[in-house]
Parts: sequence; C-alpha cells; structure tokens
Amino acid sequence: MNLNAGSPPVAGERAAEAIAGARLSVANLINAAPSEIIFTSEATEANNLALFGVAGSAIQSRRRIVVSAIEHKAVLEPAEQLTASGFELSIAPVDAHGRLDLNSFAGLMGDDVLLTSIMAANNETGVLQPIAEAAAIAHRHGALVHCDGAQAVGKIPIDVLALDVDFLSISAHKLYGPVGTGALYAAAGTPPLTPQVFGGGQQNGRRPGTEAAPLLAGFGAAAREAIAHLAAAETTGDRATLLLKELVSRQVRMTRITGSHPVVPGSVAIQLHGVNADSLCLSVGKQLCISTGSACNSGQLRSSHVLESMSFSEENAAEVIRILCPHTTRGALTSFKRQPTAPEKL
Ligand code: PLP
Repeated sequence: MNLNAGSPPVAGERAAEAIAGARLSVANLINAAPSEIIFTSEATEANNLALFGVAGSAIQSRRRIVVSAIEHKAVLEPAEQLTASGFELSIAPVDAHGRLDLNSFAGLMGDDVLLTSIMAANNETGVLQPIAEAAAIAHRHGALVHCDGAQAVGKIPIDVLALDVDFLSISAHKLYGPVGTGALYAAAGTPPLTPQVFGGGQQNGRRPGTEAAPLLAGFGAAAREAIAHLAAAETTGDRATLLLKELVSRQVRMTRITGSHPVVPGSVAIQLHGVNADSLCLSVGKQLCISTGSACNSGQLRSSHVLESMSFSEENAAEVIRILCPHTTRGALTSFKRQPTAPEKL
C-alpha cells in the first residue's frame, strides 16, 4: 500500500492523519508546537541536521562551536567535520563524575560562538546535564543552543520552553518506539536550518522525503505512552537503588562513578574494583542490560572518550559497567503485553 502522505487517495489521507497525530504527540511530550517538530530517520540525523543546518546559515562573525567532551559521536563527528569548513571547535570539560563544568563552559563562551551542543543525559553514565544553566549562559552571548535529548526524552520530563533550548534531538527507539525514526525540535523564530537533503518539499523542505507513516505512528504511540508514564510519576529509580543496596549488602567492592549527580532513572554506572568489566559482560550479558566503558580497538582495550574525559585511567575504565534497570516494573510489563497500545489506524 502506498502510504505517501502527499498522495491524494484515501491511503494518503490516512497516512497524513497518522503523521499529524504523531507530530502532535511528540510535540506534546516536550512542550513544543507541532510545527516545530521535524521528523528524521533517527537522533543521529537530527543531530547532523542541527549542526550542519545551523552552520549552513551562519553569519561570518560567528565561527565557533562549543560542545561538551562527553557528547555522543553523533554530535562530536559532525562538529569535527565542520572544522574542515572553517569553524573552530571548543570542547567543554566535565567534572570527575561526568557533569558539564559550567565555569569552564562559561569561560569558553563568547560573541564568536554560533552554536553550542550539550546532551541532556549521557549515554554511558546516565548523568543529567545542566541544560537550562548552559542555555542561559550561551544565550547571553547570542549563541544558539542544541541539546541531544536522545537519552532523556521520555525518561524524564523535558520541557523545551523551560530549558530554553533552540534545538532538541529525539530518538524514537530510546523511548520504546520503533527503530528508524526520530525528530529534531527547531524552535519557532530560530534562523531557518539549511536542509541537508533536497527533494519533494515535504516538511516544508526542511527534511524532504516521504514520511515513514507506520514508523511515525509507532513514534506517536510511544510518545503518548511516555507522557502517561511521566504523569504517573512511576519511579524506576527505585530499582536502581535496590540494585545498589543489594551490591552493598553483598560487600561488592564498587564505586558509583557518577558520585551524587542526578542520573536518568534506572541507570547505574559503577566501577567494580578488581573485576574485568568485559569478562563480566561476557558471562552475564544475556541476563542483564549491561555495557562496559571500554571498547576493543584493534585488539587493544581502550577506554571510552566519556571515561577519559572524567579522568579515568585505562585500567580503571576497564572495571566500569553500566546497568540499565528496565523502565517499567514487571507488573507493568505484563499488563503492557496483555493490552498493547492500539496502533494508530493507517
Ligand atoms: N545521542 C545519544 C546520546 C545516544 O545515546 C544515541 C544512541 O545511542 C544517539 C544520539 C544516536 O541515536 P540514534 O540511534 O537514534 O541515531
């Protein structure tokens, strides 16, 4: 079936309806207007559109971009690419527990800064970043603010107006929607983004191409689920707390690497002293949502750029794991299975 929202027959109308519904739900999730939502293929594309799109309409006097040291590669790589077109890149450090150092960030700001990009929550540590504070500093210098919200949207309340960000990236699959779609919020009144693809003019030409109606219907449903879940203020943090208590009671030698910083609910990042995280992952990786802070590059274990920026030695980084405690309780999961969210009609 042709689900091209632009085509006249009934299927086209139903697709357009489903897309509009999804746009409204995603907008509601972050307190935006539907017209401020640009659907993309995922958060990676949303980040690229924000960085290259803003750079494309840059004025000559603003040639610097400031990003934090712990950004996902989907921000770091495009930022790095922009240096080839004459932009200067400044990297803002984080403290030893992985939170943006606001003093250093403020020190890097200036009237030559075009854009700053700071993530809402880090994908390795779960640490929530001081977005509103960073946005206020950046705006005082007239810089635009992009936030990679991939790890936070749907898990904690995100209000783009309260945070005062100009752009925010969302990944559908990180909030239990389908893989293959995401969105960029672009605040009304911000300079028009230079499109990164050209074609049939969909989404007002900001990101043309036939919208993936079935995926977007799933994205919309996931956004509505998230709104309900956040409104019910279910605490998944409790599971993380339980896990930590259990580890302490079993006298596991460990340090929570995020210190006392708030983290995304259900996220536990710890250093297990004397334990090789990779071996642990191999032995329990099938039972637990667990990942390590190191990656094997050409046979050599190398700590991630996130742990490096938190001043971890390679030896210590090799002992770090992140455990994700599921977002829902067992009961909620069961009831979700019995009563799946009705997909939007296409
Ligand atoms: N940004 C962050 C913080 C992420 O954690 C991820 C994926 O893990 C991405 C961006 C990329 O998201 P996507 O898979 O939707 O492209």
